[in-house]
Amino acid sequence: MSDSLTPQKLRRPGAHPAAKGEETPIGLKRRARRINRTLAQAFPDAHAELDFTNPLELLVATVLSAQTTDARVNMVTPALFAKYPTAAAYAAADQADVEEIIRSTGFYRSKAKNVIGLGQKLVADFDGEVPERLEDLVTLPGVGRKTAHVVRGNAFGKPGLTVDTHFQRLVKRLMFTEETDPVKIEHAVAELIERREWTMFSHRIIFHGRRVCHARKPACGACPIAFDCPSFGAGPTDPEQAADLVTGHERDHILEMAGR
Ligand code: SF4
Repeated sequence: MSDSLTPQKLRRPGAHPAAKGEETPIGLKRRARRINRTLAQAFPDAHAELDFTNPLELLVATVLSAQTTDARVNMVTPALFAKYPTAAAYAAADQADVEEIIRSTGFYRSKAKNVIGLGQKLVADFDGEVPERLEDLVTLPGVGRKTAHVVRGNAFGKPGLTVDTHFQRLVKRLMFTEETDPVKIEHAVAELIERREWTMFSHRIIFHGRRVCHARKPACGACPIAFDCPSFGAGPTDPEQAADLVTGHERDHILEMAGR
């Protein structure tokens, strides 16, 4: 399979073979892998945006990140991690104390309950250690497959696809699958992308969703994967208008790469 990148030229909106239902399965796989390589060049430092130094910290931060931004979670976790350095410390924590520290992340009552329950379950069933296995991780309170994959991929180096809201939106726009259920999306994308790339592919897609392919107004005219995207035209195609929509410190690099 060739290791080319997405050509930096544009099609007419709606002209992509996938948009016309004319893409073959092998064509789809080639396109998905080419998009992954192009995004690797666009976001060379794509990474988990939650701050952590060990599996327990990442697990707790990921639970707190529900319905809020990673930046907001990163504001409360230094105090939380300093006060509760072990699973046993969470297990013995006072609910009101935890709520006070994590209040600004929203849904703080249920999150505090989950974090304490997490500590208790880790102590009771896993000797206070965060387990590596997906089937063990999903038994923890507040931990679904998405969180389990985040922890496995980023704290244990096990390949995992993180199907969050950005990922779901992008996969739909890129027409990688028609599935809407996150687990089915995960399996469909796993068929397209090399296993060793799963964790980084997730980061790249999420970075792209946060900086370029926004939910309301995607920056199509300044998008480095526009030629490979059947939804080109979902946002402004005018290069200048689109350039204004690109955010993040990679902005200049993205615009240069897209030739805008
Ligand atoms: S920004 Fe536009 S062209 Fe780029 S991936 Fe999103 S919808 Fe497709």
